[in-house]
Amino acid sequence: MLLWNCAHQILPVAESLHQFLPQISPTCSRCRLHSENHLHLFRDCPKSGILWTYIFQRVWSNSKFDFYTFYNSDWGAWITFNLNNSMKWKSLFITAIWQIWLSRNRVVFDLKMKSAFSLYNAFYVDWTFANNCSQGKELGAYHVPGLTKKTWFPPKDGVMKLNVDGAWKSNAVAGGGGVFRRSTGSWFVGFSSKFTVSSPLTAELYALREGLIIARDFKFEKLEIETDALNLKVLLGKIKEQDHHELGPVLREVANLLNQSWVGDLAHIPKFCNKVAHSLAAHSLIMAVGSKLHFIIPSCAKSDYEADFENANPEYVETIRRNARDEANSIVGAKRSIDNADTLNQVATAGGAAQLVFGSIVADIKDARDSLKNGYCFHSFCCW
Ligand SMILES: [Zn+2]
Repeated sequence: MLLWNCAHQILPVAESLHQFLPQISPTCSRCRLHSENHLHLFRDCPKSGILWTYIFQRVWSNSKFDFYTFYNSDWGAWITFNLNNSMKWKSLFITAIWQIWLSRNRVVFDLKMKSAFSLYNAFYVDWTFANNCSQGKELGAYHVPGLTKKTWFPPKDGVMKLNVDGAWKSNAVAGGGGVFRRSTGSWFVGFSSKFTVSSPLTAELYALREGLIIARDFKFEKLEIETDALNLKVLLGKIKEQDHHELGPVLREVANLLNQSWVGDLAHIPKFCNKVAHSLAAHSLIMAVGSKLHFIIPSCAKSDYEADFENANPEYVETIRRNARDEANSIVGAKRSIDNADTLNQVATAGGAAQLVFGSIVADIKDARDSLKNGYCFHSFCCW
């Protein structure tokens, strides 16, 4: 639909809107240099030009491509040229048009400008997906089996699982976080770190690198990793194509760490399965220190961690809750009949089991039994 509207020049670009509503500026919202017509928006705007340059540098190596026609034709000839090209180029072209339109709308409606690099990454992930789908691989190639349950899964026995996430607001306000959990789903250690990085993707990458370095230092025997940054997984999956990527050196360092024999696959999971890492990453943005290891579960991640743990161990958690309820009921019942010496003997026996949870109450009951044996009232506050 977008392509049809685009080819017929009927998208609501600023120049067209201005003809009907003079109060709307015809100027391009992204570069503010020219009137926004279709050709400017999709090809000639400097913001779009950078994307086409990236595409020609990084993913389209065809020496026979007619660059003169691409850069010099009018709108009709441009559309005809691109849609009558090879299948590979058509797939690139349509994906780029779609991402440019999304990026433009983000500026117009949300007042948020994507960096050229972020636009290219969005294009690259979208295009890789389109290719995989057309080759029958579909999205399953990037997902972990079983995720239809929409919960976090603990790792296998003897394996530690790392969940990582990045957080980014601006170059100066960015960070990442992660958590290592055992096969029972129990907490091993977490981390939150501040970064100075230029994009959300870079924050994701740095968080992954930090997690891998911590894992190496702890000498885990087996590690599984999960991220919700699909674009990062795609980039790392095609590391040989990233020679000119501005994150190339860090991508290669992380790829080397991922290649260690003790490191398993890097899996992509939805954000709702990665909440603990997300909370730890968000926590980094407000930390006073640059980096922190969480040996104790921090309050920012506690509720998400407990939810994951319960999902991983529903029967165990229910047993714990049932025992706690039973113990609480037995103590409450004992307190009600505390003036009965026969009952107190029973309570003292039951109290032993409850001592860990209700230590202070048990102590009271024992005092009461001892007091009754000695022939005086244990209610010191009312009988003095
Ligand atoms: Zn422009």
